[in-house]
Amino acid sequence: MKIVEVKPILIDRYLFVSVTTDTGIVGLGESGVWGFLEASAEVIRKFGDYLIGKDPLKIEHHWQYLYRATHFKGAVIMGALSAIDIALWDIAGKHHGVPVHALLGGAVRDRVRAYHHTFGSTRADIVEAIKAAKDAGFTAVGHLTPFLDESRDVPYSATHVHKISDAIDAVGQYRDAVGHDVDLCIEIHRRLTPAEAVELGNGIAQFRPLFYEDPVMMDNIDDMAYVANKIDIPIATGERYTSLWDFAMLLRRDGAQYFRPDVCLVGGITGAKKIAALAEAHHIGIVPHNPLGPISTIACTHLAAAIPNFTIQEYPSSTWSSFVNRPSESALINGSAEHDGHGYLVVPQEPGLGVSLKESAAEEWPYRPRPVDARLHVDGSVVDQ
Ligand SMILES: [Mg+2]
Repeated sequence: MKIVEVKPILIDRYLFVSVTTDTGIVGLGESGVWGFLEASAEVIRKFGDYLIGKDPLKIEHHWQYLYRATHFKGAVIMGALSAIDIALWDIAGKHHGVPVHALLGGAVRDRVRAYHHTFGSTRADIVEAIKAAKDAGFTAVGHLTPFLDESRDVPYSATHVHKISDAIDAVGQYRDAVGHDVDLCIEIHRRLTPAEAVELGNGIAQFRPLFYEDPVMMDNIDDMAYVANKIDIPIATGERYTSLWDFAMLLRRDGAQYFRPDVCLVGGITGAKKIAALAEAHHIGIVPHNPLGPISTIACTHLAAAIPNFTIQEYPSSTWSSFVNRPSESALINGSAEHDGHGYLVVPQEPGLGVSLKESAAEEWPYRPRPVDARLHVDGSVVDQ
């Protein structure tokens, strides 16, 4: 079996890849570098020049070759490598007639716990979204910010005491809205300094969040470790890391209790499985990062089914479509991840990833390039949100 075509496919806000073999098998993958998909598509084309004519089943070899052929790394390249790696696992599953999780050692669980995305530009909107998630059967909610999902057009301003006190109050309201039936995954989106992050982390500990995500920018692992060592709630981080070695450094510094590898950014299923094993040796839980498209969701679900230290899966499907005007997963692919109505995703049993791209998807949902768009403070400086 040989690869005959490697094609990047830009749809709506996503970059997929299809890898086709001379036996007619088509593998699908997705790139996670959502800010720079055009650049990642070009890298996929360049990687395609190498892959044409190669045996698609030599997944690890191709991974090593593409990663180590040059000394250049980073998100754009790793997004492309991840997309191709996922597509090769899809081909391998289809070739052998088994789901991808069977190739990873077999499913260790029957279903995959998922957290529902919540959005809202007001406190009341977010509280309603949390209640709706509970009513829909979810036992956890995430993308849950105490700072609100305010428009980036609105300049940000708050005194320190308002910033911290209002955020603590918000998390208290979120807890009151659902009692102990729903876990809260608190998302800070890198907005705080280490000192602020310690103050807020200690302030919300009373509400027992499942984790406290990206309280500070993740560029400096020592800063994350500083916060982790001064608070009594677990930190989750890693969504922007691009390799096993980034997570190895995070581990060495005790920077987090939950790792958030993005399957579409850390080298695909090959990279994510290794990161999960690294974490497993230290009883660290895996929370796959997935604010992306349906190929990402299904790839995460196969990984989650097969790793013992999986904690919970990000599942944005139903909220993306209503809040940010994106297509639903089932509008783009056949066989998308399925919520069982009780907060879990069904483990797919079809060969490969078990999905295919809808022929009409590219036409119905043309690519929408993402603008460079940051929120500003009232003083004109950049705010992380
Ligand atoms: Mg996040």
